[in-house]
Amino acid sequence: AIRCSATISADRASARIGDRLSGVDTPALLMDLDAFERNCGKLRRTMAPFPGVAVRPHAKAHKCADVARLQLQLLGAKGVCCQKVVEAEAMAEGGITDVLLSNEVIAPKKIDRLAGLAAAGARVGVCFESVNNLRQLQSAAAASGTCLDVLVELNVGQDRCGVDSPAEVVATARAAASMDNVRFAGIQAYHGGLQHVRDPQDRAYRVGKVVERTRAAVQALVAAGIPCETVTGGGTGTYRLEAASGIFTEVQPGSFAFNDADYSRNVQAHGSTGEWEQSLWVLTQVMSVSPSRGLAVVDAGTKAVSLDSGPPRLPPHYTQLYGATLEYASGGDEHGKLLWPQGAYQLPMHLPPLGTLLKLQPGHCDPTVNLYDWIIAVRSEQQFSGADVSREDSQVVVAVWPIRGRGPGH
Ligand code: PLP
Ligand code: MN
Repeated sequence: AIRCSATISADRASARIGDRLSGVDTPALLMDLDAFERNCGKLRRTMAPFPGVAVRPHAKAHKCADVARLQLQLLGAKGVCCQKVVEAEAMAEGGITDVLLSNEVIAPKKIDRLAGLAAAGARVGVCFESVNNLRQLQSAAAASGTCLDVLVELNVGQDRCGVDSPAEVVATARAAASMDNVRFAGIQAYHGGLQHVRDPQDRAYRVGKVVERTRAAVQALVAAGIPCETVTGGGTGTYRLEAASGIFTEVQPGSFAFNDADYSRNVQAHGSTGEWEQSLWVLTQVMSVSPSRGLAVVDAGTKAVSLDSGPPRLPPHYTQLYGATLEYASGGDEHGKLLWPQGAYQLPMHLPPLGTLLKLQPGHCDPTVNLYDWIIAVRSEQQFSGADVSREDSQVVVAVWPIRGRGPGH
């Protein structure tokens, strides 16, 4: 007989607490808890000069309440951002009581679910850009006997969502003020396209334009006598600039906690502490070696690591081991090819042997996390035993957490 189960079973997680990396089934998503904690500490320190600016870490990076709770504690933060209702539900289920849905929610079913979270006691904020949407939010909140905080989204140059002018900000804020079950809480002004501008001066210049457009909208609200409590925006690449602007009251970095190859390619500004440690890894295993072709094949393909922001990279210690950096090329849905760059020295012994476990640095953290059911949290074993163990097996599993908010984002 076939047994059906509607939920993912914990037995299917590829690791158990106490396992060494050699006991973890691949491909697996690893989170280095030591590096994650240091990244959170670093963000907290970089935000210390801006006591009037709150950090609201973006949960779209991890979609996991266990990670969020730890993050809030380490950052001294009150709540998280989410990009999708399912992420907000994952947070609320895990005890996070302050959520900003930093996106528009249009479908009535989704709006009802959001109002349901507020009715159950969470403080829920949501972005909007039209009075029609505001009416939908108002009636869903009224039907649930609750109130939603609403923030008008201002288009600051990404040309994605949001109103374009200060006049529209004032008009939509006035509309909100006339409704009982929504509370006008402020403005979201986020420009995703600036996060990965490589040159820090260019990045700063372009964030300056964002700040100008945002300031004009805030001034229009002030002139109209409408209080604007929150001005929120900024991601890992720009948050320090928004924080220093004097106009933003909140920043929303997400990727800082994990880092990825794409963020590693940002050139850091002088004195910047935005250079994050890699805490998110995809553990993969060499499943085929072909010395004649100078090729090793790993079991992580597009089902295991996102390729939208470039291929994953191998960590530097493989460079030292083999004298050059092995590069990842897509081998399809279930395979990755490891090859030496053109002209690099090739000897069969310079390929990792069959069965080798390798850690890949994902090109882009968010869509990579989205592929997995579980985050496997590991710590350096030295911390426990002081043992000088080999690098590949020097970490031990300390937690296995479900990624409840994963999926296409309903
Ligand atoms: N805020 C919003 C509205 C976003 O869409 C994103 C990411 O796409 C972020 C914040 C976080 O950006 P990052 O992960 O680059 O820090
Ligand atoms: Mn991203």
